[in-house]
Amino acid sequence: MQTVQLNQPSENLLDEIKLLVGSNGWKSADEMPRYFDDPRGRFEGFGAIIVLPNSTEQVSLIVKLCNAKKVGLVPYSGGTGVVAGQLSIDSKDVIILSLERMNKVREVSLDDNVVIVEAGCVLENIHSSVEKHNLIFPLNMASKGSCCIGGNLATNAGGIQVLRYGNARDLCIGIEAVLPCGTVLSELNPLHKNNTGYDLKNLLIGSEGTLGIITVATLKLKPIDSESGTALVAIKSPHDIHKIYKSLKTHVSENISAIELMSGFGVSLVTSKFSKLRNPFNIDYEWFLLIEVTGANGIAERLEGALNDCFERDILLDAIIAQSQQQKDDLWNLREMTPEANRISGAFCNSDTSVPVSKISNFIEDAHCAIQKVYPNLRINSYGHIGDGNIHLNVLPPKEISKDDFLKSNPKVREQVRMAINETTHLLGGSISAEHGIGRLKTRDLEMYASKARLKAIKSIKSALDPNNIMNPGVIIP
Ligand SMILES: Cc1cc2nc3c(=O)[nH]c(=O)nc-3n(C[C@H](O)[C@H](O)[C@H](O)COP(=O)(O)OP(=O)(O)OC[C@H]3O[C@@H](n4cnc5c(N)ncnc54)[C@H](O)[C@@H]3O)c2cc1C
Repeated sequence: MQTVQLNQPSENLLDEIKLLVGSNGWKSADEMPRYFDDPRGRFEGFGAIIVLPNSTEQVSLIVKLCNAKKVGLVPYSGGTGVVAGQLSIDSKDVIILSLERMNKVREVSLDDNVVIVEAGCVLENIHSSVEKHNLIFPLNMASKGSCCIGGNLATNAGGIQVLRYGNARDLCIGIEAVLPCGTVLSELNPLHKNNTGYDLKNLLIGSEGTLGIITVATLKLKPIDSESGTALVAIKSPHDIHKIYKSLKTHVSENISAIELMSGFGVSLVTSKFSKLRNPFNIDYEWFLLIEVTGANGIAERLEGALNDCFERDILLDAIIAQSQQQKDDLWNLREMTPEANRISGAFCNSDTSVPVSKISNFIEDAHCAIQKVYPNLRINSYGHIGDGNIHLNVLPPKEISKDDFLKSNPKVREQVRMAINETTHLLGGSISAEHGIGRLKTRDLEMYASKARLKAIKSIKSALDPNNIMNPGVIIP
């Protein structure tokens, strides 16, 4: 792909855009530092202005103006992305386009079991708006109170219920988006079958704002199950995960909605940072699985059957089955507060690996070994959506050393640890980005580990749809 020289937005262009969106439709970059914050505190973003269009038409006009003047645009939703896709980290000459004023739930269709939402809808608000119809939108993750559906689709987010319901792509049936030339692609109809050429919806989903700006989406809804069961079990080692998974599949098969791995070290970080949360066992086990099943009445009993079977086969050390909604929430809080506990405890490297489910324990073992070879006594919190082979490794400095001091005296260690994890992932046939995307953080990794055919196709698609490279420049392709 040829590099196109992007321009600084001129005063004339900024004035034209301000006029278009009105006085509530833009913010000066100097006054709004929150748009430039990285949730993990690693990067700082820049931008010439923040524009907040309130309709697809306004987005389209802004994109047309920027395309004509060859000015870069960075789409922005909830700002919770963890690979710097929403942050222009090396150029001030871009326009940040926030979808936050496009935040309406337009329609819940009970006949088609879909909800039509604007891109700036906060994920949690979508959940509450459909629950009153006894339906769920099952995309769910710890950032649900801040992330928005536009960002979820742009990153093809995963989360804690992928096992049963799939990721964002599987849950979206229609899309409206503004393409880099400003044309509006409006395909919101809930069609289950549509083989009219390339699947543009699924191309835009997961494109991280590099091929267009998603403005509206039609999302699939599912019925609320009448019963659920939630258990926290202690296991000896990750080697036993696949045995437990097998037993669960035999007893509760497609009703498993989540299997989350947590380490004893991770749970101790969470309970030490959040005093209201506690480890429900009296023993400091090394590994835990948080298991949730949902289904028809009787599903909780079937979960109990599966766990009894595991006890009989000596593959569980201990188990707690939640007896109330409060107990369920307490168990889930241990998992959901893990990213925040990692951050405030000084995690300096975070991975988003996926490997085949059969290789999970090899990955954890090999990656821990490789990390300790980089620097001894690093502390590692391995956790994640283990049912779909997605493991997050968070690496912290040795005990008693602060993150800042450690990184100052070991300036290369972060990159070395990252590469140790990447290499282990690659050797096991895994992916360096399971659910967070490439953003600006992993462009070099993509060049290194993706096949030549994949890279060539990615670059050809980008230059065909965005020849001026105005859409989120520097994301996915450096
Ligand atoms: C505590 C915490 C927990 C998390 N847990 C998970 C998890 O379990 N699973 C998971 O997958 N992720 C997780 N994430 C990452 C993050 O929440 C997701 O990537 C989320 O989908 C980002 O949504 P957002 O609205 O915040 O997007 P943003 O951060 O604003 O943007 C993300 C990317 O999408 C692009 N973009 C945003 N809006 C649009 C649009 N309308 N059109 C086109 N492009 C757009 C941006 O340019 C950027 O490249 C977590 C993050 C945090 C902080």
